[in-house]
Amino acid sequence: MATLSFYGAAGTVTGSSSLLEAGGRRILIDCGMFQGNKTVSELNEKPFPYDPSSVDCMVLTHAHIDHSGLIPKLVKQGFNGPIYTTEATADLLDFMLMDSAAIQEAETQRTNRRRQRKGKKEIEPAYTKEDAETALKLLVPREYEERFEILPDVQARLWNAGHMLGSSSVDLKVSEPGTDHPLRILFSGDIGPEEKAFHPEPDAPQGYDYLICESTYGDRDRDDYTLEGRRAALKAELNEALSRGGNVVIPSFAVERSQELLHDIGVLLANGDIPQTTVFLDSPLASKVTKVFMQYTDDMADIDVPASELFRHPSFKITQTVDDSKAINKIRGGAIIISASGMCTAGRIKHHLRNNISRKDATVLFVGYQAPGTLGSIIRSGAEEVRIHGRHLKVRAQIRSLGNYSAHADQAELLDWIFERCPIPGSIFLNHGEDDARAELKREIVKRGVEEGKVFLPTLDERFELTAGSPESKGRAAQRIPMSQVTRDWQNEHAALLIALGQKLRSTEDPDAKKDLLAKLNDALEG
Ligand SMILES: [Zn+2]
Repeated sequence: MATLSFYGAAGTVTGSSSLLEAGGRRILIDCGMFQGNKTVSELNEKPFPYDPSSVDCMVLTHAHIDHSGLIPKLVKQGFNGPIYTTEATADLLDFMLMDSAAIQEAETQRTNRRRQRKGKKEIEPAYTKEDAETALKLLVPREYEERFEILPDVQARLWNAGHMLGSSSVDLKVSEPGTDHPLRILFSGDIGPEEKAFHPEPDAPQGYDYLICESTYGDRDRDDYTLEGRRAALKAELNEALSRGGNVVIPSFAVERSQELLHDIGVLLANGDIPQTTVFLDSPLASKVTKVFMQYTDDMADIDVPASELFRHPSFKITQTVDDSKAINKIRGGAIIISASGMCTAGRIKHHLRNNISRKDATVLFVGYQAPGTLGSIIRSGAEEVRIHGRHLKVRAQIRSLGNYSAHADQAELLDWIFERCPIPGSIFLNHGEDDARAELKREIVKRGVEEGKVFLPTLDERFELTAGSPESKGRAAQRIPMSQVTRDWQNEHAALLIALGQKLRSTEDPDAKKDLLAKLNDALEG
């Protein structure tokens, strides 16, 4: 009897991790970091809901930190098996896991300084650069579509998922003693859209008992994201923003999105579609990753500049040192600054936002998904004031969003991908999506003829027995956090209330009215 547990990306889109147990063998698919509000992020510090040393091996779908970011912690806590993935993913991880470890260490240092001042005990980082180095040694690269044995009687294959460099869907075939039908399971990983720069469409065969499919954009259909449409929208945004005179700050994921932007901006510059202006890529990780991309240009599709010129336009300044980065702070207008992290939770983007967000002539242009509760989502939702590095800043810059960039399939493409794999005699699990997106995608799947009882929306830490016919939920194994705190936790509500109260008090002129308001709030607190 096999069981499948969802230890992340269930009710959220981050922290991807599923554990498949069959005949005493334990296989982990992904081990991602949780990103989002404080309650969700704190999952990164909690113990794994299983013993890492008992896991035999891992198959990793792709390098994004929300799929790979807790691997060093897993290794630190005793996991020692091989990690199968594509070669490009392994190359990207060399930089991504080291970068993530450096962030862990720096954040822990900051926290410890605060704790020291309060006389509290110091804490340890989730993992260190050393742990990341140990983890990197466990990576075993494999080719797409090649079947390989990962454990006795367990075979795996990786399929191009079209989501980012090296991304794959994972196909597992598990034979169990006493049964003549091996269990066949396909984990989608993250599925890319049809019109994605650099990568062909996602692919995989048919004939699975169970399908685990992501649902990030399960409730969204887009018709405006062709390669040309995207570039036209970017051109319009950049021309408008640059005409205002200030800088254009673009929070961007260091991996893939930054390279897509460089590619598109390079084409716009070459065609004279936007003014000749300096374009900074200010993220140490993005710089390193761009070099990895350059190694794989031969495998890439849809490149609209000669491969030898890709990412090398003379207007591009790819910063290397902290001094290079600090020099950008002096530029008051006319530059395009691409920086990470993409959801503004860490990294150099916070410096650029701090310097530009209160300037009326500046523009902050979002080009990627912002998880609820992150600084990026707070800015994008129209907050009038934000807190960055402990400072309260008024938002005066133009806040713009381009929805045309996506590394994820939309609803129609997810449905295509799912139904190309059908019929599926077992069941379909939808993970890696917020609840509305999953529910909507499920409705559409059922509308197309799949029995309602065969589509499951697992919750965090929920375990399923995969029987021949239909899986049976065994409930949530460990209640690490209440599901009610996933989208907005009490700390999000607290921050929103404080900001709203401050605004109300400032906009109320009459001091007696201010006093009245506070008295009413006091009554509510005592009531
Ligand atoms: Zn991803």
